[in-house]
Amino acid sequence: MKLGKFSIGMGDRFAHEGEAQLEAVILAQKMGVEVTPVWNKSFREHSIINSHPGQTRLAADAAVQACGWKGAYFCDADHIGLKTVDFFLDACDFYTIDVADFIGQPAPPEEVKAFVRGLAPETLQKLETEADVILSAAQIEEIAARYLLAVSEAGKIYRHIRERKQGDFIVEVSMDETLAPQTPVELFFILGGLAQQGIPVATIAPKFSGRFNKGVDYVGDVTQFKHEFDQDVSILKLAVQAFHLPAGLKLSVHSGSDKFSLYPLIHDALERHGAGVHLKTAGTTWLEELIGLAEAGGEGLALVKRIYAQALGRFEELAKPYATVIDIDPSRLPSAEVIESWDAVKLVTSLRHNRHHPNYNLHLRQLLHVSFKIAAEMGDVYLKALKAHRNVIARNVTENLYDRHIKPVFIGSK
Ligand SMILES: [Zn+2]
Repeated sequence: MKLGKFSIGMGDRFAHEGEAQLEAVILAQKMGVEVTPVWNKSFREHSIINSHPGQTRLAADAAVQACGWKGAYFCDADHIGLKTVDFFLDACDFYTIDVADFIGQPAPPEEVKAFVRGLAPETLQKLETEADVILSAAQIEEIAARYLLAVSEAGKIYRHIRERKQGDFIVEVSMDETLAPQTPVELFFILGGLAQQGIPVATIAPKFSGRFNKGVDYVGDVTQFKHEFDQDVSILKLAVQAFHLPAGLKLSVHSGSDKFSLYPLIHDALERHGAGVHLKTAGTTWLEELIGLAEAGGEGLALVKRIYAQALGRFEELAKPYATVIDIDPSRLPSAEVIESWDAVKLVTSLRHNRHHPNYNLHLRQLLHVSFKIAAEMGDVYLKALKAHRNVIARNVTENLYDRHIKPVFIGSK
């Protein structure tokens, strides 16, 4: 069971776009680049719309069958902890173990001391050279104290899955949903801890500097990100040797979708290091459903306008679960009356993520990004519209994933 060098995490909120998503991966294959498809859905997402991981699995299997996909593919239990993991045990073969909540809770001092004693001097020397730092014992202890409890929680969750799950599975450890980013040096020691716990970690998702808001571009210092990402890739290579971690270990970028200004930098770093990456996206496909419906005009366009009008009235409720990953300025949201007067082109160009289009409105885009609950409440009305306009939606889904995500990250634009 191998994830491969390149993999993409795709979210499909209503489990109707599996084929269109897989088509994007097939386009990459035709360009000679193998990307493993992974369908991810978090507990938060499932609970907002009352769906079940079994539905994601069925949709993935059906898409693979329909497209004749012969490669590996996975279903990811995204951001699970001990309280939520059981829900995913039957359907998933990829587990994103989220221990962000345990970061900063102090680990027992004797464990910290033992961890630091266990580090070989030559390992530390290599780290200092790679990261261009000199580390005192006190600094290392401080890092260990901050992360060891999170690491041991990851061990607990891993063993919980191992004991209950039939067959093999991919392990990702995520620490991205927290306020403070992890430095490359911290990442190194976190990996040391994960190795000590015996976790065969395939991907690790740190929190990078800057804001990774949902569905919109990166907000932060691009140059700093470039440097940090580059060092993270080097550090991972070093950690694999030093701690005997699985050879294919790679970074997972929980992108929140659409970090277009970072994609070329990520691609360059991967190429320079010969490294792999897992790129996790989620809501981008749901927005392409809305774009496709709007483009279809008539009832489809009217349905999108209805969803938007309801979303405006329920702004606080919808934004709440995503408060730390969206930045919406309500004064920049067009009113329901204004939207009502828009034609398909105006709505599509306002919503589609093309930063250079004068109509593009990232506030409207972020609000709709978190409004999938309204579509879920519409039940059959929404699902029937997806079916009625499946061709125009599928074209948007495939183009978006391939042109705007897969191509810049895995293939490069040169
Ligand atoms: Zn995440």
